[in-house]
Amino acid sequence: QSRNYSFMLRTKQPAGKVTNQLYLAMDELADEFGIGSLRLTTRQTFQLHGVLKKNLKTVMSTVIRNMGSTLGACGDLNRNVMAPPVPYHDKPEYVHAVETAEKIAALLAPQAGAYYDMWVDGEKIMSAEPPDVTEARNTNINGTNFENCPEPIYGVQFLPRKFKVAVTVPGDNSIDLFTNDVGIVVIMDDEGELEGFNLYVGGGMGRTHRIQNTFPRLSEPLGFVPKEDILYAVKAIVATQRDYGRRDERRYSRLKYLIDDWGIEKFKLVTEQYYGRTFHPVRDLPPWEFKSYLGWGEQGDGRLFYGLHVENGRIKGELKKTLREIIETYNLSVRISANQNLILCDIRQAWKSKINKSLAAIGVQLPRSIDPLNVTALACPALPLCPLAITEAERGAPAILERIRASMKKVGLGSKQPLVVRFTGCPNGCTRPYMAELGLVGDGPNSYQLWVGGTTNQTRLAQTFMEKVKVQELEKVFEPLFHYWKTERSHEDESFGDFAMRVGLETLKNYVQTFEGL
Ligand code: SF4
Repeated sequence: QSRNYSFMLRTKQPAGKVTNQLYLAMDELADEFGIGSLRLTTRQTFQLHGVLKKNLKTVMSTVIRNMGSTLGACGDLNRNVMAPPVPYHDKPEYVHAVETAEKIAALLAPQAGAYYDMWVDGEKIMSAEPPDVTEARNTNINGTNFENCPEPIYGVQFLPRKFKVAVTVPGDNSIDLFTNDVGIVVIMDDEGELEGFNLYVGGGMGRTHRIQNTFPRLSEPLGFVPKEDILYAVKAIVATQRDYGRRDERRYSRLKYLIDDWGIEKFKLVTEQYYGRTFHPVRDLPPWEFKSYLGWGEQGDGRLFYGLHVENGRIKGELKKTLREIIETYNLSVRISANQNLILCDIRQAWKSKINKSLAAIGVQLPRSIDPLNVTALACPALPLCPLAITEAERGAPAILERIRASMKKVGLGSKQPLVVRFTGCPNGCTRPYMAELGLVGDGPNSYQLWVGGTTNQTRLAQTFMEKVKVQELEKVFEPLFHYWKTERSHEDESFGDFAMRVGLETLKNYVQTFEGL
């Protein structure tokens, strides 16, 4: 008897950009071949769950014919390249961030024809790439390329493991810059022209429970490169990881382990051999800020955008139907944010009140009415959709967030007190829980490992706090934690993550264990 295999399909959307045509196609595919819902991911892509094997070709070719792609969305190669999702047309640094993300995505896309052969019978539908991308890919500096190979950058073996790149502008950390293998920051000169880029390398979240030498890691500064060199510098980093990243053990094959092993100075020296130049010191930057882009904003070209909060990135039911109507009626393009939200773009002033009415009719809350916990919370799909899941994330998160809010109220913290909470069903860390102020990482059936100490702007790693905390007993930890924070914080605005790091995890643990209740 043959089995009815089903698959998860993930698209690739540099900077989270989705055309009107592709959104409508994905919406239909979810109903016809998926589980009736669309999921927005933390890397600004779509996931379609439950696609039966017999329907794969129809679904993949429909995505491709509607100007989408799944090429490189999974596998040991560069994944979706991220950038801030906001469609500013009058802020050149944002325009450069998106363009750079698109160019790097094109540079590092697989070149062999097998993908199109398999899914659309060899017909390549995607539009031509910019000439500087083709030149950068084909120019061989110090052996970065494989001669006579359909994959000039990846060669015959591809990379040891997945590879992640994100691009942003100074101060905007809407994309969790430091969790990427390569983080890139646009640097403008005093005249407002693009000058170059700061590069950060070696970030990554995935780890394995009980194996101490697997760990989440933040990227660190590699250097500054002038604007004309960015594609060559990225290619050199990829080539270094390709040739020196560990291939004997997948657990240690991400770039972060190579850099941790070598140290940044050796990594820089080797990468410079491939780059053919030296890296300059990184430029100073202003402090980072998390930006949600929820609510109405101006694009700078006379049109508006609307950032819509999507709980856990799951678009379903009435929300799905209403979004389709709005996007179809006004011919809108959209962008997916790294916090699993949707930005409706290119909206005329005249449409604003009608769109407000349509969203209000299905109970969509105004951004200012959404609980701040929900604004920053992330949860991965986990059970029953991800085979790696050990416990619940998406399905359990809403109730746990309510319990967190209830615990906060009980100890006297207000209903507007923010706290960055992230959930995953396993230590792989798809929602980047190790950057949260409070991270819940599945470590057994109905239990979580708790991480505390991340920041509100995602610039510091959290630390392991407790293991195997049963879902039904979370209050036994939350209430003392929040009580301690409420009574001992240095000032009203000291965030939970900063407080936890200031007092230290041992003191926190002690407080939790000796807490006698309110
Ligand atoms: Fe699956 Fe783990 Fe990723 Fe969640 S974090 S989606 S359980 S791999």
